[in-house]
Amino acid sequence: MHFVDLYAQYLSIKSEIDRAIANVIAESAFVRGPYVDGFEVDFAKKIGVQHCVSCANGTDAIYIVMKALGLQPGDEVITTAHSWIATSETITQAGGKVIFCDTESDYYNIDPAQIEAKITPRTRGIIPVHLYGQPADMDPILDIARRHKLWVIEDCAQAHMAVYKGRIVGTMGDAATFSFYPGKNLGSMGDAGALVTNRGDIAEFSALFARHGGKGNHVMEGINSRLDGLQAAILSVKLKYLDQWTAARQSRAVVYDRLLKGVGDVVTPAVRHDSSHVYHLYVIRTAHRDALRDWLAARSIPTVINYPRPLPLYQAYDHLRHTAADFPVAAKDADQILSLPIYPELSENEVNTVVDTIKAFYADRTALS
Ligand SMILES: *Cc1c(COP(=O)(O)O)cnc(C)c1O
Repeated sequence: MHFVDLYAQYLSIKSEIDRAIANVIAESAFVRGPYVDGFEVDFAKKIGVQHCVSCANGTDAIYIVMKALGLQPGDEVITTAHSWIATSETITQAGGKVIFCDTESDYYNIDPAQIEAKITPRTRGIIPVHLYGQPADMDPILDIARRHKLWVIEDCAQAHMAVYKGRIVGTMGDAATFSFYPGKNLGSMGDAGALVTNRGDIAEFSALFARHGGKGNHVMEGINSRLDGLQAAILSVKLKYLDQWTAARQSRAVVYDRLLKGVGDVVTPAVRHDSSHVYHLYVIRTAHRDALRDWLAARSIPTVINYPRPLPLYQAYDHLRHTAADFPVAAKDADQILSLPIYPELSENEVNTVVDTIKAFYADRTALS
């Protein structure tokens, strides 16, 4: 069994992908060009925003937006303690100071109730992450931002097309960032990313900044962060299948939810009644996480821990001198979470195999104790 099977996805649309790649090669449209422009238009339309600026990866997208928002040295940005490091390292990279906030128990996303206590006169913005594919609780976050005149960047790297109270993620903040890393819900065959926004000023600055400050007339010094034509052409093909793939992920999650109910101490993902979850990852919780993970690995079922520690407890943030007591929810979750295989091509049989193997683990433990 695979944790994610990207080859199966390729085979399911092979002729279209092969044709798209051949077209880019025939036209030598390798960097920027018509396929990149086309994907930006397609993706903006899909999300329902005015602008999409593509770039080299989802990490750059976060950095570029913060440059567009004019982050200054010493400015503070509040983000979640539970994410991939791209979310926080870009704050530092853009000259800011990372202020970590604990998560809401059960949902793994930033806890809006704890944000206000982190705000100081230097705070400029908030970066909620829609982790694992479930929207962060945006209404209170947007309300806090409005009251304190802060910007909001949604990190949508794991949540393409997830819906919060009728709104698609990526449409609620000042800007939003996406990753098209191969394993993401919409994945290229290499690195790729984009930012989306309804703010013309952010789009204009970002497009210049990401491309050396403008072609021909350099109005500023920028960086080189471009989407290449092959990835754009591949992404335009895959975009047509995104809704179908999202539905397939959700239907696998429904089966996991049903079959894992009442099994040992397994806690299945909680989904808000007013939101949808697009299951980039299907993450369970158990006090026996490490033993269960070994048990599954010994039976050829791959799992991943996303992520083994709260961000502020990695060596990279030693200088902040945080302890687990500063982020009790994120710290407890980090010790208990386990991501099970989920992807659109995963068969219901395979889901059954994973669940049966988990049940056997708990049966074995009962027999031993
Ligand atoms: C994948 C990811 C990113 C970064 O995307 P890359 O394309 O890998 O640079 C940012 N934030 C989160 C939450 C992610 O999962």
